[in-house]
Amino acid sequence: MKTLQRTLTIIKPDAVRRNAIGDIIEQFEKNGFRILAMKMLQISKHQAEQFYAVHASRSFFNGLTDFMSSGPIVVLALEKENAIADLRKLMGATNPANAEEGTIRKKWATNIEHNAIHGSDAEDTARFELSFFFAGYELAK
Ligand code: UDP
Ligand code: MG
Repeated sequence: MKTLQRTLTIIKPDAVRRNAIGDIIEQFEKNGFRILAMKMLQISKHQAEQFYAVHASRSFFNGLTDFMSSGPIVVLALEKENAIADLRKLMGATNPANAEEGTIRKKWATNIEHNAIHGSDAEDTARFELSFFFAGYELAK
């Protein structure tokens, strides 16, 4: 039996600044993702540190959290069969130099830090990330 899965994606500040919101959302819809919930907001440095807590010990943590709090982002809850892996595929590699043709990062990312989009990487991180940005009632669909 095929089961629906949910994932959390973020259109990052660089992509918002480049007017890529519409293009990226079109990619979600064209690739079979249902948009369950969506909002535009700006997070604080502290909120970015909480969201990316798994990377707290990494050398790029300070730059990453400065970047993620530097301007508006768009967060979406997406639903699809195999949503987590399929979104990662549509996003492309973290470093756009390695991203395949046709991926969102190939088209919109500038470099390994300013790489246009976030996507959950597993079921447990998807649960944490969805609940970080959305209340239960917003996902009750
Ligand atoms: N990042 C960075 N430098 C690196 C690796 C990652 O600035 O060397 C940033 C980049 O924005 C990336 C985020 O940290 O998207 C989270 O890293 P992760 O390895 O989880 O990549 P992702 O899951 O986003 O592909
Ligand atoms: Mg990741």
